Amino acid sequence: MNNMENLYRQVIMDHYKHPRNKGLVQDPSYKTVHIKNPTCGDDITVQSKIVDGKVVDVLHDGTGCSICCSSASVMSETLKGKTKAEAMIISENYLNMLSNKKYDKTVDLEEAIVYEGVSKFPARIKCASIAWKAFEGTVEESE
Ligand code: ZN
Repeated sequence: MNNMENLYRQVIMDHYKHPRNKGLVQDPSYKTVHIKNPTCGDDITVQSKIVDGKVVDVLHDGTGCSICCSSASVMSETLKGKTKAEAMIISENYLNMLSNKKYDKTVDLEEAIVYEGVSKFPARIKCASIAWKAFEGTVEESE
């Protein structure tokens, strides 16, 4: 393991042990999407609140492996405060990076770059994707 991989692993474990923005609200101004990954037991719910084209809040809750739960936390921190358009560009490029598709390396993925190595482990790609796909689902619902 090189230094960069070691650093990435530390970021993932920190978000797994101390998840940010965890916990859901009963508030109709939030859109909610729930996704399960039966192959690994991941079960994640994401809520977002979009006001005037801006992602003002992102919440998540659920259970799953370290990759899945940490990526939900990283996703919430990365996308909260962005415009809806910026958030969708980051999410699209992140998901393309994971699945070994072409992506725009000039887009700043912020901490989400730590999942770069997941693309080498096909079984884990879904783990690192579902929270982001759930976020995209909440944006679609808010339209
Ligand atoms: Zn998983």
